[in-house]
Amino acid sequence: MDEMGRRRAIYLAVLVAVEGALAACADTSAQGTRPAADATGRKPRARKPNSPSPSPSPSPVFSPVAVPSRKPIHQIKEINPAAPPNSIALTIDDGPDPEWTPKVLDLLARHHVVATFCLVGDAIREHPELAKRIAAAGHAICNHTMSHPQPFAGLSSERMIAEVTGAHREIWKTTGVTSRLFRSPGGDWSPAVLATVAENGMQPLDWDIDPRDWARPGTGAIEAELLHAKPGSILLSHDGGGDRSQTLSALTTVIPVLQSRGLTFVTL
Ligand SMILES: [Zn+2]
Repeated sequence: MDEMGRRRAIYLAVLVAVEGALAACADTSAQGTRPAADATGRKPRARKPNSPSPSPSPSPVFSPVAVPSRKPIHQIKEINPAAPPNSIALTIDDGPDPEWTPKVLDLLARHHVVATFCLVGDAIREHPELAKRIAAAGHAICNHTMSHPQPFAGLSSERMIAEVTGAHREIWKTTGVTSRLFRSPGGDWSPAVLATVAENGMQPLDWDIDPRDWARPGTGAIEAELLHAKPGSILLSHDGGGDRSQTLSALTTVIPVLQSRGLTFVTL
């Protein structure tokens, strides 16, 4: 390469870098929010194209997208009208947890069931290998805030945005998944929460079958409630936040029963 060629190559490299920086600024200013910086202050980098890990989208910065509904959804058809009529969706909240998440994943794998895991950002930081395992197994991932503060609707606007964007970034950095679902801790919605979720292009997610397994009402009570599931139901359960042995035991019984009714588990 001659001198002119070298200069032109350097010029183009600088141009690409500047354009990239400007595009990043435009994205964040258009959004009006900026994801919370991670502990190192570094921006996550996209993996190489041939990486065996899931490839993250080019940028973790949000761009508003059309979502099926700005209201929390309770049924599969509200988010996926084309889902087969015998579909059912299991959602699993508050992990990843080092004791219970692997057991739940093993159970789901035994029955060839896919689920939607509503992950907490701080827990992903503590157990990134489990978040990766969830994604690698084909389960969907939902944003369940950075630190699961409650009541979520009572947070300041600034803190609320940081909780949502921080978890989004953590999910993306660790799994390569850009989550388009958000579940508020305790299902606590308000106009401010819904506006924050919408501004970040996510679908608010609720449920229609709640066995209150987090309160450990007994395996039988959890089973009885989960068995009320109908085609199109979204089921709530937990793999984090404490002793989930009752939940695991109930799911062990309930999953094959629901499958024997002809229901098929789908991700959201
Ligand atoms: Zn939760």
